Amino acid sequence: MGFKFYFSIFIFLGAPVCSWASCLPTEAVETINHEFQLEKWDTAQQNWARIEPQTVCQSDFEASVFKALMDLKNLPALDIQQDLLNFNFLKTSPYQFVKERVKTVRLAEGVGSCSSGVQAYVSARKSQTIYLCPLLMYRSSLEAQAVIVHETQHLDHPEDTSAKPELETVAHPHSRCTRGPYLKMDVCDDDFSNGGSYATHVEFLVKVARTKALPLSLRNEAKSSALALLLTRFNQLPYELKSGVLLQTQNGGVHFFTGLDQPMVTIVDSLSPEQLVGLRHLPTVFDLNSGTVKNYIYNEALADTPGSFSEVFRKLKPENQKKLVDVYFGNNQACFLFTNRLYCEVGPESRVLDLPPDLKPQRFNIIPLYGFDSVFIVDDKGVFYSLPFKLELKDWDANSFEINKTLQGINSVAFNAGSTKVAVELDGRLTSFDKLTERTPVAGYEHLVFKKVIAPFLWSDVFEAL
Ligand SMILES: [Zn+2]
Repeated sequence: MGFKFYFSIFIFLGAPVCSWASCLPTEAVETINHEFQLEKWDTAQQNWARIEPQTVCQSDFEASVFKALMDLKNLPALDIQQDLLNFNFLKTSPYQFVKERVKTVRLAEGVGSCSSGVQAYVSARKSQTIYLCPLLMYRSSLEAQAVIVHETQHLDHPEDTSAKPELETVAHPHSRCTRGPYLKMDVCDDDFSNGGSYATHVEFLVKVARTKALPLSLRNEAKSSALALLLTRFNQLPYELKSGVLLQTQNGGVHFFTGLDQPMVTIVDSLSPEQLVGLRHLPTVFDLNSGTVKNYIYNEALADTPGSFSEVFRKLKPENQKKLVDVYFGNNQACFLFTNRLYCEVGPESRVLDLPPDLKPQRFNIIPLYGFDSVFIVDDKGVFYSLPFKLELKDWDANSFEINKTLQGINSVAFNAGSTKVAVELDGRLTSFDKLTERTPVAGYEHLVFKKVIAPFLWSDVFEAL
């Protein structure tokens, strides 16, 4: 069962790719090698061949898989406090859970079903085999461990070796996503409480996040990954999640608006002018001073992560850094908006582009629709220029930025953000509307001058307490 990469923010936030060459303790490698049959594809022989411990560090892929298994084995006893976010689907240590179900781990490089975006897969539960994809070597060890736990849950009940037809399939197959960024893709589970692969995956991360003996940076990574999965991988929205819209005020306050009859929630009172917010699902602060990104919702815990995307920014000359206007992080896409240029990454591709000379950019506006982001550059007059994500990055030019005829004369807007559609006017007032051309001020917030709609957003108090 293919396991598509989820929530590609972690491409940008994740630890940079490390070379593990000459890196792993021999004893540990031998222990892992003893407990699992680790195999790689031998192209010359056209068969699977056992990985020899002495060659592990000659390959980043092999080394990262061994390291993930070693790290999983070395985890301390994890927190098992049972509540809405932890059903204890994992009844033993995660390593024991994997060891009891998986006999063979295959590194599927140059063979098998590792298509674009797939981190790992299994084929039949009776095989007791999981296949890991080269993409995993670009992920953190924790991410790789979580993926291994996820795939192991697809091999549930391996002890039953009879010829039942269901043993030819995977356990806990995924469902078609009926909401969220993966809409209509078969990469969701229906309900967290069903204990499928994503629930087990999340639970592993929740336990890591709550285990005080672990380093804070690891716990924070686990927390943000768990939240991203909870927001995007379950068709039943768990835990009183409310949908709404995030708004930023001129003085940097960030607020969550869920509807006209609901009080607006203050998420942070103010951010310094050196910080910019820009992401859907999990809003992210980009700190211009350090050139790093972090998720502010749980910022007390979440360490700044250098990330590969923001590294681009840190390499700029200071005078060019000062020209940054806004940032956008989305699914497999990220952009920096400068006063006269745009830098975007789409998957592995990147591109710097001069903006049309008459475009004086003020902000991004993000409108997610059917799993894709429509991203606009908005200028000082409220003209919306759409980013041409439908084109290949290499084909972008000044003529690719089309002016949107519907969205005009406003600062920014959110459509599908809960029950109410809201906009920020050019003068910073908050308005609501049914028809975009007939907007009325939202009562009660006249004292706030809004800078922009950041993005639609989902949140709950349960998440805040993770
Ligand atoms: Zn899966």
